[in-house]
Amino acid sequence: MNPIRIELPTPFDVGPVNVYLFTEPEPALVDTGVDSDDSWAALQAGLAAHGLAVADLQRVVITHAHVDHLGAAARLTAHGDAQIYIADLGYEWLVAPKRKWAQRIAFYRDYFLAPCGLSPQAQQMVLAYMTYAAESSRPVDPERITTFTVGEQLAMGGLDWEVLHMPGHASHQTCFYQPATRQFISADMLLHKAPTPIVEEPPDGETRRPSLPLLLDSFTVLEELDIAIAYPGHGPLIHNADELIRQQRQRLQSRKQEALDHIRQGCQTVIELVNTMYAHYPENARIAGLWMVVGYLDLLKAEGVVEEQEIGGVWRYVVKGD
Ligand SMILES: [Zn+2]
Repeated sequence: MNPIRIELPTPFDVGPVNVYLFTEPEPALVDTGVDSDDSWAALQAGLAAHGLAVADLQRVVITHAHVDHLGAAARLTAHGDAQIYIADLGYEWLVAPKRKWAQRIAFYRDYFLAPCGLSPQAQQMVLAYMTYAAESSRPVDPERITTFTVGEQLAMGGLDWEVLHMPGHASHQTCFYQPATRQFISADMLLHKAPTPIVEEPPDGETRRPSLPLLLDSFTVLEELDIAIAYPGHGPLIHNADELIRQQRQRLQSRKQEALDHIRQGCQTVIELVNTMYAHYPENARIAGLWMVVGYLDLLKAEGVVEEQEIGGVWRYVVKGD
């Protein structure tokens, strides 16, 4: 059987999130929505439309450890016997979310926001949001979790789905591909708008891994799959995956070029680029813009076009050879 899309509300700019239901051979759910009463009510209604209740769910499969995708995992385990499945890559976020958030917050506070040139108030706003997410996260009992690994097959809806690792939006993003029916559960890897390359804290002792170059590599892997239909984490089903990827690549390349032009015209810091390239966003909604700009700069640095210098604790960018 094919996955059934159920749309659940979130309080975030991204809008509602999709979870996917398989009713047979055993009720299974892909992703959970956020941990809110609104989302819970919408989930119950979505299940009831297929004659099911939360307590009927046998397994819940998590695509990636972002709060709109796994936020309700703990609540689900409290209301039934479902086992939660997650890739080993994202396991820590499920059992110890507060510790993982603390690491990310420390990285943003000590190594990322100030060098981007954010004002102390803007830094506080980002950190306050992250602290709120950390405080409202709830861990899942390890006994209720089964991990899977990349390359493994997951049985859902009576079919075997290949687990693929697709970093870029999240370093631990997994997607599920069903070759016989050419179905692809893309989560936040393939969306109607290019996914945001979220900046993550590096593993211990390493430097930050640039997210947008990873995302482009994942697009390359995606382009090699034969996809008839994709089930995204947000928005309606996707029937033109190849065309969508082509458009998103083009858009990313042209925005990267715009960033380069702005640097030539005198934008020096990340925040100056954000305020120029995302002037159409309200100021408190520019965090996504911050991640995109850092992504464009990561690409330009990797191409050797732009050089980064740290002056007074702030990264400054110059075009090489200018
Ligand atoms: Zn996500």
